[in-house]
Amino acid sequence: MSEHPRIPLAGVIGHPIAHSRSPALHNYWLRRYGLKGHYVPIDIAPMELAEMVQTLPRLGFVGLNVTIPHKEAILQIADIVTDRAALIGAANTLIFRKDGKIHADNTDGSGFIANLRQNAPKWEPTSGPAVVLGAGGAARAVVAALVEVGVPEIRLTNRTRPRADALRSDFGAKIHVYEWVQAGNLMDDAVTVINTTSLGMTGKLDLPVSLHRLNPGALVNDLVYTPLKTQFLIEAEAQGAKVVDGLGMLLHQAAPGFERWFGLRPEVDEATRQAVLSA
Ligand code: NAP
Repeated sequence: MSEHPRIPLAGVIGHPIAHSRSPALHNYWLRRYGLKGHYVPIDIAPMELAEMVQTLPRLGFVGLNVTIPHKEAILQIADIVTDRAALIGAANTLIFRKDGKIHADNTDGSGFIANLRQNAPKWEPTSGPAVVLGAGGAARAVVAALVEVGVPEIRLTNRTRPRADALRSDFGAKIHVYEWVQAGNLMDDAVTVINTTSLGMTGKLDLPVSLHRLNPGALVNDLVYTPLKTQFLIEAEAQGAKVVDGLGMLLHQAAPGFERWFGLRPEVDEATRQAVLSA
């Protein structure tokens, strides 16, 4: 060991990146556990991605989170890609190994499930169909995770149908693709309903999907977390469903990276939520 061990650095790369809540989250955990380290937002243009990511380990970086638009392209740069990142086709967590290799993983799916398990402990995903609205990058992680926990049937719908069809061919026969205009009809007997589209975010239109046929015992989750309570969740709650917001997924997907970089598994609890919300 060198006489002056480097303080570990980590960060989140994206373009743009100023909006990211990850620095507030990781720096909160560093302070809470009294650990040495820093976590910074780094804006990297797509053309500079490979060069910058290969330079950062030499500056003392031990890893990175990866967000839009680099989540897919980073797989080409990594030396080792986990099976789940390869299946999803995107990575959100990099580990810079001591042997110089870049290890890429995707923790969105495990973060998604951990959020639901924590906030809806009675949820039984195997007991009936799931409806997934949207077929973008986040939907790929959500569908992979739902298949892994044993959901018997996934009803998938997206405005642009070919993206949903592509997901079906990647994830198999449990996935049934429907037209976007039919979304409201898919709710009958659904146990799990997930919005993975960006609709409902502050500044965007609300999701144009009727919940009148929602089963009151369903669990409804929105990946959007600005606002925390989307119109979609408000309507689902009015139908009697259990609702879970998207912030917990953001917190849970971050925990494995923090553990690998800084050596301690952080807790995701109400104090963590409040630290991020008040930042
Ligand atoms: P993405 O790859 O760009 O996908 C966007 C999705 O939204 C696509 O399904 C797209 O449909 C749909 N969409 C956008 N505008 C629409 C419109 N006007 N009408 C109908 N559908 C529309 O983005 P992403 O990475 O999957 O992220 C999706 C959302 O999840 C974002 O709000 C993101 O912040 C959130 N997210 C949250 C977490 C978390 O930790 N909570 C993690 C990841 C993502 P088309 O294919 O037709 O364009």
